[in-house]
Parts: sequence; C-alpha cells; structure tokens
Amino acid sequence: MKNIAVIGAGTMGNGITHVFAQNGFKVNLIDISEASLEKGLATIVKNLDRLIAKEKITEKIKSDTLANISTFTAIPDGVQNAALVVEAATERKDLKLKIFKELDEVCQSNTILATNTSSISITQIAAATNRADKVIGMHFMNPVPIMKLVEIIRGYNTSDETTKAIMDLSLQLGKTPTEVNDYPGFVANRILMPMLNEAIETLYNGVAGVNEIDTVMKLGMAHPMGPLQLADFIGLDVCLSILNVLYDGFKNPKYAPCPLLVNMVMAGKLGVKSGEGFYDYSETKKAEKIAKQFV
Ligand code: NAD
Repeated sequence: MKNIAVIGAGTMGNGITHVFAQNGFKVNLIDISEASLEKGLATIVKNLDRLIAKEKITEKIKSDTLANISTFTAIPDGVQNAALVVEAATERKDLKLKIFKELDEVCQSNTILATNTSSISITQIAAATNRADKVIGMHFMNPVPIMKLVEIIRGYNTSDETTKAIMDLSLQLGKTPTEVNDYPGFVANRILMPMLNEAIETLYNGVAGVNEIDTVMKLGMAHPMGPLQLADFIGLDVCLSILNVLYDGFKNPKYAPCPLLVNMVMAGKLGVKSGEGFYDYSETKKAEKIAKQFV
C-alpha cells in the first residue's frame, strides 16, 4: 500500500495527508476547491516548519514530504490508482453516503475505503457501497501529526483482512491503532462528548464561570485543556452534531445537547474557527498561543 488518496483538505484531511506523506506514501489530496487545497497545503508547510524549528525533522524530510503530495479538485481524479482512500470531508451523512457510492464505482475493486468520521455509522456508510467488507473507520485525532491514537472502527461487515491491513498501516505511521465496534460515537466521542456537554450544562446552570470550569478540570484532573476550551477547538457545531448522533442512536435523554450549546451554534459562535466560542479568538495570536499550549 503506497498510493493513498485523502478526500477533504480541512483540519483533519491536511493532517492525515501530512502524516502519510512524511512516512513515504504517495498521497493524492482531493477537495472541492483550489482555495481549500491551498489552505490545506499551507497548513502542512507551517506544521513541517514547526517540526524543523523543534529539530524533529530536517529540511530534506520537509521537501520529500511535500514532493509526495499531489492535489486534485474532483473524484475520480486521484483515486483510481489508490490502494486506500481515507475520507475526511465535512461531517454530513448525506455527503459521506454520496462520496462512498461514487468511490465504490470508480476505485479498483480491492481498494479499501476508510472514513475519518467522528460519529456517523460505518455500517451505514458501507451500505452505500458494494464492498462493505472493505469499508472501515479510521478515526484520527486532532492534531493528527501529534496525536498517537487512531480509533479503528469495524462496521458490521468489515472483514478481518481489512481490519488487519488498517491496523498494520497505522503502526507504519507511528500511531497506536485501537480496534472498536460500530455503535454511536464509537468509544472516543461516546465518552468525551457527554463530558463536554456536562461542562456546558454546568456553565448554563450558573454553577461556575468559563475559566473556573476549565481550571477545575485542567488542574484537578490533569487534563491538558479545559472542556470548554476543547469544545471550542473541536468546533461547537461538530460537538452538537456528535451529541445529536448519540441522542438519536441511543434514544437516551442523557445525551441531549445542552440548550446553551444549541443556541451558540445557531448564533454562529462555533469556537476557534469562527473567532468566538466560550473564549474570544478574534486576535490570531491569542488562538495560536492557546494552540501551542495544547500541542
Ligand atoms: P473541515 O470542515 O475542516 O474540512 C472538511 C473539508 O472537506 C473542507 O475542506 C471541504 O471543502 C471538504 N469537502 C466537502 N465536501 C467535499 C467533497 N465532496 N469532496 C472533497 N472534499 C470535500 O472538517 P474536519 O474538522 O477536517 O472534519 C473532517 C472529518 O473528520 C469529519 O468527518 C469530522 O467528523 C472528522 N473529525 C474531525 C475532528 C476534529 O477535531 N475537527 C477530529 C476527528 C475526526
């Protein structure tokens, strides 16, 4: 497996591309617009420069990594010779079902189709294809070049062979793959999202302020970042959509999104990406400072 395609050049897609390319894979990165591709590549360059500054890689590794990346603006370009496609497009079920149906039609019959979805059913995505045994969840964590975990999610029909290939591949990337089954939120978000939601509920109920809640969890539980700040980094819209998947999937009120979260998303306060969430990120420097503290 040397030729990989990545769909989506956003937060996760550019990180996934970076990690594969730095480990010697040829990566075709596909997004719907040139602007997204340029932004994704600029982020990869910035992250490689940061690694050089920290003396973790050399200039030669940077140039080899960038030489391994090609960009495309539409499927089927870039996916036809791929042994593996990792989809990291926007978290919308209709979009992912459409992409997987198309990938199934244009990719080689033995190509493995992986999704980086945070919460959408792998079994349902697989059902949009005629190769459910070769569809799998490959859930990288943000920021991808730094975080070791890859949550490997087996759909109902994912084969042992596909799972082994993806577990082995993740090890080649220097990651720690962990196999889980396909139920709403998988493991990571089933545990994380109720905690973030509870932090928002604690704020909503007036128990404590933003800084106080984050300080208690940072210093008291040794978390590198408080839950409200983490929600801002993930994106409040993403948190809301994952909570809705948990709520719909289990029909259990304990997963109901806090009304404050719903209101903030409706008001366009999405966290770092919109410049404001529980914290104000209007000054770029401030956001960068917080990001560095996290990384
Ligand atoms: P993002 O909004 O930063 O990027 C999504 C990218 O997909 C955009 O560049 C968009 O132009 C592109 N896109 C949309 N439709 C497309 C299409 N038809 N073909 C190609 N590209 C298309 O989103 P993100 O945060 O990178 O999330 C991507 C996936 O990763 C989602 O499934 C999300 O749930 C998952 N995820 C996100 C995080 C996180 O912390 N952000 C963590 C783990 C997993």
